[in-house]
Amino acid sequence: AAPISLAITSSRLVKHGVIVKDAAVIERLHHVDEIMFDKTGTLTEGKLSVSFVHSFFVAKQKMIAYAAALEQYAQHPIAQAIRSYSEELAVEAHAVEHAEHRLGYGVIGTIGRHRFIVGNDRMLMAEHKLLPPYVQLLAEQRKQQGETLVYIYMDDRCIGLVSLHDRIKSSSAPAISALQRMNIAVSMATGDHVGTANRVGRQVGIASMHADLLPQQKLELVKQKLAGKKVVAMVGDGWNDAPALASAPVGIAMSNSTEAALHAGHMTLLYSQLTSIPLSIAMSKLTVANIK
Ligand code: ADP
Ligand code: MG
Repeated sequence: AAPISLAITSSRLVKHGVIVKDAAVIERLHHVDEIMFDKTGTLTEGKLSVSFVHSFFVAKQKMIAYAAALEQYAQHPIAQAIRSYSEELAVEAHAVEHAEHRLGYGVIGTIGRHRFIVGNDRMLMAEHKLLPPYVQLLAEQRKQQGETLVYIYMDDRCIGLVSLHDRIKSSSAPAISALQRMNIAVSMATGDHVGTANRVGRQVGIASMHADLLPQQKLELVKQKLAGKKVVAMVGDGWNDAPALASAPVGIAMSNSTEAALHAGHMTLLYSQLTSIPLSIAMSKLTVANIK
């Protein structure tokens, strides 16, 4: 195809807030038959807020202080939300001996003589912690609301849970329905639990769901689609999307992405508006039709 037409289209796309690293991606874009979306920060704003907190055995303030101290070691939107919440409560700061952010699990570390966990169900499983039935009950209720859950353990005891809520981007539903009208399949690939995935899916119009994924599983999913001769585009913003963004024929990153995702993607959406995707595909189709 004539490189000049691709170059013209790519400069037109810039005006619509779409940055294309290499004009060749425009040609691949017009063949796309499935788009896989990350959830947090892609279909949703990615600015989580704490909506429910419950502590056991220790005061709520104290539990939040521990959680916020550990979350200093993480960059996830969950970490941000718990830290801001603790600032609002003006809780005392704890000195953390050492802590480790386990991507897709949460944070684990030591404060004083105690070992703390701030993480999800997967983390509890990996650390052989059983969730007491009364915590499980509370957690299930929140999950059904489509919220993201974080449990806090102090040694072998669950000392609390934090539930977080994220808003859906106004451009998500219109973008999804435009893609469906263009006969492009849409699906979701998220590290979050299936309850939240379903809530967001219902609200934006995505029925095909892959939840509880680790980053390498997002990548596996892309590879499976490619093996099935599907030209798949991946849309994401997180470090955990980077492997999938890089190996998809078309990787689309949000402008407020982590470094890793920005580097891995072939295109960047400057205003993180998902409606730029059907627009780019439509423009790629026009370009390729003109070339032929
Ligand atoms: P996503 O962006 O789709 O939510 P991630 O792989 O970044 O996917 O995270 C998956 C899950 O891992 C989160 O929903 C959360 O349950 C857990 N998690 C990740 N980072 C943290 C953190 N810093 N604190 C608590 N939980 C976390
Ligand atoms: Mg994300």
